[in-house]
Amino acid sequence: MYKQQTETTCIRGTHREQRTGAVNVPIYLSSTFHQESFDDFGPFDYSRSGNPTREALEQKAAELEGGTRALAFSSGMAAISSAFMLLSAGDHVIVTEDVYGGTYRFVSEILPKFQISYSFVDLTDLTAVREAIRPNTKVIYLETPSNPCLKVTDIRAIVQLARQHDCLTFLDNTFLTPLYQQPLSLGVDVVIHSATKFLSGHSDIIAGLTITKDEELGSRLAFIQNTFGAILGAQDSYLLLQGIKTLGARLHQASNTAERVAGFLLEQPLVETVYYPGLPNHQGHDIHTGQACGDGAVLSFVLPSREHAKVFVEQLQVPIFAVSLGAVESILSYPASMSHAAMPEAERKKRGITDGLLRLSVGLEHAEDLLEDLQQALAAAAQVTETIKP
Ligand SMILES: *Cc1c(COP(=O)(O)O)cnc(C)c1O
Repeated sequence: MYKQQTETTCIRGTHREQRTGAVNVPIYLSSTFHQESFDDFGPFDYSRSGNPTREALEQKAAELEGGTRALAFSSGMAAISSAFMLLSAGDHVIVTEDVYGGTYRFVSEILPKFQISYSFVDLTDLTAVREAIRPNTKVIYLETPSNPCLKVTDIRAIVQLARQHDCLTFLDNTFLTPLYQQPLSLGVDVVIHSATKFLSGHSDIIAGLTITKDEELGSRLAFIQNTFGAILGAQDSYLLLQGIKTLGARLHQASNTAERVAGFLLEQPLVETVYYPGLPNHQGHDIHTGQACGDGAVLSFVLPSREHAKVFVEQLQVPIFAVSLGAVESILSYPASMSHAAMPEAERKKRGITDGLLRLSVGLEHAEDLLEDLQQALAAAAQVTETIKP
């Protein structure tokens, strides 16, 4: 199932600059392009509509996901919002209930202004999905494994349901990247990335992508990209291309360490739950194994309380404490007040985002250093138990 050629595709030149043989695509800082002929315009006219550096990136992304067309946006949210612009007033969307916080905000606050209604549904419950489908349902929106509890959705089953009802499927593939999961090959219509995360990998840029296989759908999205205008700039397109080159090396190493960290956390008395799709007893582990070829570098775990989480975070030396994920440095975050701050408390708790939940995106530090650090911080957090419960 693992497609080793994806790694090669990350690196192999989309571009070999003709005149000089430069191995990197030039950063074309040009908003406009001179037209030699009065009648026939060249391939580029204005950089919102198309830019050679962005085009090199878009071709690379399409190739990696096995699509025919990719589009680069100024953020993951710009890609997500633009994809939702395929909808019209009167339409209805079904969105996975543990969707990324920003997507939750867009769906619940912006779509209703355009008379587009929504239902948040547990996509792991196929009966619930079937019941939520209405005659005007046009999109089912998936995220698997999801954020932050790494819930696994059966992509094939949802695609089948969607097709029976003539609706499209969108899938946010940020956590696994095309290296570990290729949703288009499972029938998904639009793959979305926050390329801010693993694809760029260095916590340096904000970027988003959509990738499609169907050419007509790709053209409709390109029309939206040009019309709405949330394009990725040439310099960031270049940085993203550079990041993608090392995706294989980065994701493999980080995932190996994540697997060790998950095993380690599982054995700690203070840790109540560990969420990682690679754990054999993780909900949906078998489905995950049937649709992905890697478990990724993100895991979450639960400490007994907010107080424990606070001491633990304050003691840690190796990971940075921040939002975001998918970078060379390990990133620890506290979903309740970070990625899911936009979600009402009741909704948050319903989704398992409790006050003791922490999410760790494992980076490229040496596994031993990270494990040692986690161990000493857990020991410090364990002291909290003793003072709270004498
Ligand atoms: C970060 C993230 C987004 C949003 O992307 P931005 O680049 O921050 O706009 C969407 N989905 C997931 C899963 C994310 O982690």
